Amino acid sequence: MILILTPNIDPDSHSYQQLMAHLSHLQDIRLRVHREQGTEQTLTEIYLIGNTSSIPVDEMKSLPGVERVVRVSEEYRVIGRHRDDHRPSHFDYQGLRFGQDTLHVFAGLCAVDTKEHVELMMQALRDHGQVCTRMGAYKPRTSAYSFQGHGRDCLPYVFELAGKYGIKVIAMEVTHESHIDEIHEALHGTGYPTGVMLQIGTRNTQNFELLKIVGRQQEYPVLLKRGFGITLTESLHAAEYLASEGNRKIIFGLRGVKTNMGDPHRNFLDFAHVPVVRRLTRMPVCIDPSHAVGSRTAGPENILDIMHATAQGVISGANMVLVDFHPAPNRALVDGPQALLLEELPHFLEDIQIAREAYEQRVALATRYHVSETA
Ligand code: PEP
Ligand code: MN
Repeated sequence: MILILTPNIDPDSHSYQQLMAHLSHLQDIRLRVHREQGTEQTLTEIYLIGNTSSIPVDEMKSLPGVERVVRVSEEYRVIGRHRDDHRPSHFDYQGLRFGQDTLHVFAGLCAVDTKEHVELMMQALRDHGQVCTRMGAYKPRTSAYSFQGHGRDCLPYVFELAGKYGIKVIAMEVTHESHIDEIHEALHGTGYPTGVMLQIGTRNTQNFELLKIVGRQQEYPVLLKRGFGITLTESLHAAEYLASEGNRKIIFGLRGVKTNMGDPHRNFLDFAHVPVVRRLTRMPVCIDPSHAVGSRTAGPENILDIMHATAQGVISGANMVLVDFHPAPNRALVDGPQALLLEELPHFLEDIQIAREAYEQRVALATRYHVSETA
């Protein structure tokens, strides 16, 4: 059960003290307080953990300082979408809104290789009105002998170039807690020219210790990819780990699952789960068509499979597209075969626009045809 308190309630106020005193007498119920500092107000939520089934909602609602009460199901207490749950399905970062109602494209390098490639990429993004990108510095690789990313060494120039080209958010995978400190130091050292969204890759979806550490910091939002060999439910539980530790700025990423049933694609596309995640949780949903498809193959109409996959996700309401581009894919050190060319960026963006408009039309149509259950 979640008690949502009146905005900006002061923890020293009489009503708050009275409320806490009352709650502390509830038998076998643990309390967890979460405060979310927004730009305009501070929201306080109190989580009642334990068997709350016998606690009447009305009684909780009548307590001092309580604005609303949400009875949550056991699953996904924080990230879930529950009955009468009006908690937000968006967050703000770097002046951008990331929500179930917005769409952002994060086109960029799978892995940073040279400074020149980073600059060409960012320049192309700026030229096409983009303010987000992806840049891999820490790469988890199947082979111990493959390039693992430049790590901390590339961060200063990646961040400085981002600032130079007006890039506000970089999605960057971290595989160890030390990477968060390195990112933090480099941002500090360069004067915070950009922001970072910490990415947890499919190999680490159930790295619970990493999830807890990333969840404990609230400075950077998190993009959590679904695990490629586990169920959607298991991956959503992983997202709840982040949230239960305090970080609510989470985007859930679909990137395909590993099975040869998806051949000839690298992974079996799971973008039919976009509306499922949006229904079960309040997280914005990202699609990664590059790692799902894995190649530059095209259909008979010369539309790349990656673009078809992107359109499928966007037309179902995806809120973020994470996609590999490279100025010279044949010289890329990671995932060159699936990288789109910089010249393809405007085509890719326009194609997404078509899919997004179609999604919006579908929403309007559904609103017209919707028959209320009580009608
Ligand atoms: C990536 O986005 O570069 C990546 C490695 O993705 P995934 O974790 O989905 O394989
Ligand atoms: Mn990759």
